[in-house]
Amino acid sequence: ITSEEVTKIFLDRINSIDEKTGAFVSVNSEKALKEAREYGEKENSSPLHGVPIAIKDNILSIGDLTTSASKILDNYIGIYDSTVVKKIKESCMPILGKTNMDEFAMGSSNENSGIKPVSNVWDTDRVPGGSSGGSATAVAAGEAPVALGTDTGGSVRQPAALSGVVGIKPTYGRVSRYGLMAFGSSLDQIGVFSKTVRDAAETLKIIAGYDEMDSTSADVPVDNYTEYLNGDIKGLKIGIPKEYFAESLDSEIKKVIDNSINMLKEQGAEIREISLPHTKYAVPTYYIIACAEAASNLARYDGVRYGYRGDNSSIEDMYVKSRTQGLGKEVKRRIMLGNYVLSSGFYDAYYKKASQVRRLIKNDFDKALEEVDVILTPTSPVLPFKKGEKMEDPVQMYLADIYTVSINLAGLPGISVPAGFVDGLPVGLQIIGKFFDEATLFRVSDKFE
Ligand code: GLN
Repeated sequence: ITSEEVTKIFLDRINSIDEKTGAFVSVNSEKALKEAREYGEKENSSPLHGVPIAIKDNILSIGDLTTSASKILDNYIGIYDSTVVKKIKESCMPILGKTNMDEFAMGSSNENSGIKPVSNVWDTDRVPGGSSGGSATAVAAGEAPVALGTDTGGSVRQPAALSGVVGIKPTYGRVSRYGLMAFGSSLDQIGVFSKTVRDAAETLKIIAGYDEMDSTSADVPVDNYTEYLNGDIKGLKIGIPKEYFAESLDSEIKKVIDNSINMLKEQGAEIREISLPHTKYAVPTYYIIACAEAASNLARYDGVRYGYRGDNSSIEDMYVKSRTQGLGKEVKRRIMLGNYVLSSGFYDAYYKKASQVRRLIKNDFDKALEEVDVILTPTSPVLPFKKGEKMEDPVQMYLADIYTVSINLAGLPGISVPAGFVDGLPVGLQIIGKFFDEATLFRVSDKFE
């Protein structure tokens, strides 16, 4: 089978089903087929040579619409390739199109998309998770074999869990952020969605590695991840943080996770209870830091340099109208929160304090990971919820991120793998590893294939 034929199969699937799922915001049919034909002629040693991929709409690619699912960028066309896209192209993978998301990656349900909502493939009245809900859904619905997403506080792992696919957030610094529209620069990482652990391992191998274009990129060798898919977890020490199994966890989800822990134990892993005592501060700490960074990063969308421009009788008026009309409700809420916690008079009480607590959270993980090889938790405290259910109460929405945000605050790698079902809805299990040890995450995840 040729790359062109494979690409065509996925494009046909997108054509027939995307109206229902809402996974893509733009599809580059002609371009993808052209790329597939060209790549078919080329020599390339990548195992994914010729395999098409979908890319989240906040990752730049030259000549393609890249809008972050925001009205303020709704006709913005990328003028250069992000490093990950460059690497995808070097590996001869045709790009199917850009996937839907919460506007500027802010959200946990994809309901904040400025373009259209996304439906969960297991129950279309429910959310797919967010903010990379489009990428998760594209893979879950068979519209793309693999997809890239971004994870600032859980946006790869949580939608992977709610959509029943694999999603990995690498260590901060593992994958270049060059060409990613910044949300929370000290938290953002590009990650991978796939149906199988092997596909995630192959794709991460392609996009990982040092990049001089990103000053926070780490010069740490990239392991040959697929070598670790050998099924052997004997003697591996797995920590179970007691704080992650508190009342807010759905009891049916807990059962699925408990079964998984037993399975790993039977396969020879050593299970230990551990404590991450500052877990209860993670959500407020994350939302202070993420909003502060977002307020600063999103200041560039002012109607001057790119994107939507409001009426302009005066410059002041132009700024105000561009942002008022171009940005959505959640994005504005966060810009206001961010500017508030950074303002003099409140900086010490909020931003500075949150940065200190962030360190304590990281210390908790450092200490735990001296004793165990990986940490295992649920990915989400709740099953995929009904559309609209949490939209009126942002705090309820933020609390859905309780198990994922700490990992970004600490900078550690995390993966979510499908672990079972409750009432026909998927449950994800999260495995957290040591810095730059994605290899061990794949090794454990392989047990869930
Ligand atoms: N749900 C979190 C938020 O709304 C995480 C988003 C993300 O990881 N991009 O900020």
